[in-house]
Amino acid sequence: MSFDTEVLIIGGGMSGLGLAVQLIRKFGVRDFEIIEKSEDVGGTWLANTYPGCGCDVASHFYSYSFALNPDWTRKYSMRPEIQQYFRSIAEQYRILENVRFHSFVEKAIWDESSETWTVTIKDQKTKQTITRRAKIVISAVGALSVPKECDTPGAETFEGPIFHSAKWDHRFDWQNKDVVVIGNGCSATQFVPIMSGGPRATKKLTQFARQSHWLSERENPYYSSTFKNFMRYVPLAMRLYRAKLYWDMEKDFTGFNIQSGRNIRADLVKTNKEYVKRVAPRKYWDVLIPKTEIGCKRKVLDTDYLACLHRPNVELVATDPIKEIIPSGVRTESGREVKADAIVLAIGFATSQLLFPMDIRGKNGISLNKHWDSETEGVAQAYFGTCVPGFPNFFIMMGPNTTTGHLSVIYTVECQINFTLSLIEPIIKTLPSYRNRSILPSLSLFSPVPSVIDVKPEAARLDSAWTQLECKKLVWSSGCTNWAIDPKTGMNIMMYPDWQFLYWWRSIFYKKQDFVYTEAKTGKEVKPWSPSPLGLVARTAAVGLLVSSGLIATGVVDRDAVEDGVKHIVASAKELVKWR
Ligand SMILES: Cc1cc2nc3c(=O)[nH]c(=O)nc-3n(C[C@H](O)[C@H](O)[C@H](O)COP(=O)(O)OP(=O)(O)OC[C@H]3O[C@@H](n4cnc5c(N)ncnc54)[C@H](O)[C@@H]3O)c2cc1C
Repeated sequence: MSFDTEVLIIGGGMSGLGLAVQLIRKFGVRDFEIIEKSEDVGGTWLANTYPGCGCDVASHFYSYSFALNPDWTRKYSMRPEIQQYFRSIAEQYRILENVRFHSFVEKAIWDESSETWTVTIKDQKTKQTITRRAKIVISAVGALSVPKECDTPGAETFEGPIFHSAKWDHRFDWQNKDVVVIGNGCSATQFVPIMSGGPRATKKLTQFARQSHWLSERENPYYSSTFKNFMRYVPLAMRLYRAKLYWDMEKDFTGFNIQSGRNIRADLVKTNKEYVKRVAPRKYWDVLIPKTEIGCKRKVLDTDYLACLHRPNVELVATDPIKEIIPSGVRTESGREVKADAIVLAIGFATSQLLFPMDIRGKNGISLNKHWDSETEGVAQAYFGTCVPGFPNFFIMMGPNTTTGHLSVIYTVECQINFTLSLIEPIIKTLPSYRNRSILPSLSLFSPVPSVIDVKPEAARLDSAWTQLECKKLVWSSGCTNWAIDPKTGMNIMMYPDWQFLYWWRSIFYKKQDFVYTEAKTGKEVKPWSPSPLGLVARTAAVGLLVSSGLIATGVVDRDAVEDGVKHIVASAKELVKWR
């Protein structure tokens, strides 16, 4: 069995970096590669450079559990600080040397005979293609890294710049210019107040909204140096603060149940309506207060957006949608022409095409899309959002049904990382970089040598059925269209329908019988969790031998006592074999 790298990770964002760090921390191995299409790590926080880009989860919780940061400057940090956080972690664990930048994974094909993945990678600069063979492949490409294409007719005729918020064109200076913004989701509500206010304000900013979102009040205080010192020096302070932030968000889950959460949602609706009416201009109340259930879409935290709608240079248009883009701007359904020097697309991401545009082929050359076509009418599903049957040694971070409507994505991905590392542990421990660390693991000569892990198809089907059933009980299925629901089948492709602490629980106490490990040499199923009696005895003896030789060398025990001990172990081993 030969390969170029033991673990190949696709994507150097939060998920890919977290995985790499935990491979190092848990197994002490460095034989992994991260393939990243951009020029740096950070993913979302590298790509989204629009003005005002920031986090909607408090930073003390939107951070890795293994890398708490006492120095967050404010409750909800802005993009540069978050990006710096991820980069500093990559530097601290010397991960950058394992990243192949400007490299795009085009396809990954499972090779049955060598039990490895052949991964085709295209260099974004030279356009050259290389292949790397890996024992294990983990996709960490995120769910929000492919911006949606503009589907408004006439885009090619527009004379000015037209760009997506995730691909901000920094050459465009909006000061005193006419700007059209299409979309009113989280990103738009962050950059509209910045573009329309201050000394660099736009002449006119016209925003077109297709749907309304529940907007809630948010304060974003700066942390004082006393607070930061408290976090840094008082034992457990950061953990306790984090636990508080966790609970403040996790308790929102009670409101998601269509039946039992009714009263909680009614209270939330009241609070949100009051907030909108207090802050936004009266003429927009109808547009800003959704008719759909609260919680159906991820709530948007108000970053001074509602207040900026009072500005004379801002107009929100919700009842006269854009019909087409014309050379000078846009023309609406009613025939109104709105002039624009630039058009900003805040239209979100292609979330329904999971792992698009990569071509991933598992056993018998079946592609992921073909697999999902035959199993779930084309809808992406995966066991624990991570494993797909027929795709051995392959794992998906932020896979189907792993998103939450109320918590941090980092929390969820860390659960997936725990789960994945626990599944691959028996395989990693047979691979050269782990075995070479110590002579002890090489005693796996006496134990099965698992080479391949796959989830059982029946287990994956049951997990998907459970997920879909549970999703039906929650607000996302209450009839509002949203990004989580596949329009064709009505299946939920994004959300995890349970408390997040139970997601963590499942990541630790998963059903081992749902997975099959096979051995390289024999191709037979093995159970790495129950080592052979001979292996057990050999390990005990080896540890005993090492300890006693140390003790003999230091003169703590005499040689005769050791001899007696060894005889006893051999006798026990014989007994054990007889008993088996
Ligand atoms: C504007 C914005 C704000 C957000 N705010 C929050 C928030 O406040 N709280 C929250 O919990 N979540 C938030 N999210 C969700 C956010 O995406 C996740 O929290 C997190 O950053 C996802 O990390 P990731 O590593 O899984 O994916 P990403 O950050 O998207 O990283 C994926 C990486 O994979 C690379 N890649 C993709 N395809 C390929 C390929 N084929 N070959 C090679 N490389 C590839 C990309 O270049 C990217 O670097 C936000 C998302 C956006 C877009």
